Amino acid sequence: MERADDISLKRTSSLYSSPPMGPPDQPNYVNAVVMIETPLGSVNLLRRLQDIERDHDRVRTGVRWGPRTLDLDILLFGEESIYTDTLRIPHRGLTERPFVVVPLAEIMPDLILPNGVCVSDLAAQMQDQTLVRLGHD
Ligand code: ATP
Ligand code: CA
Ligand code: CA
Repeated sequence: MERADDISLKRTSSLYSSPPMGPPDQPNYVNAVVMIETPLGSVNLLRRLQDIERDHDRVRTGVRWGPRTLDLDILLFGEESIYTDTLRIPHRGLTERPFVVVPLAEIMPDLILPNGVCVSDLAAQMQDQTLVRLGHD
């Protein structure tokens, strides 16, 4: 079991099912957003998340948005803004993906996104019928 002493879980959204964003010949995804506290910097946090993905037998096949056992992305990291080849914060899909915006609004309803929009307002506008709330873990 992965040790996660330096990642402390503060809030967790419900789980949501959604159709795959990539190749359609794969099962639905289960999505969630969590808020954590950590003494790690963002680069080390990404490394830790990738270790955890590997511990869950994730194999990187090279297929973009192909099936995977676990995908852990950093959506936001405080007020930090980073743009490198290996790490981009805010996450580039942050404001476009209902399966990100809706669970994020659940745990941080008053959050103002980097585009200046309140996450709850954006979630309300998205109205994605294919995103199904499965309940809390
Ligand atoms: P998407 O990023 O569109 O959700 P994905 O999660 O399927 O796609 P991956 O194959 O998991 O993409 O990751 C590709 C690379 O993205 C990682 O190796 C990592 O270096 C980089 N990356 C850039 N920004 C982030 C971020 N904010 N969180 C996680 N990975 C990131
Ligand atoms: Ca992802
Ligand atoms: Ca990822």
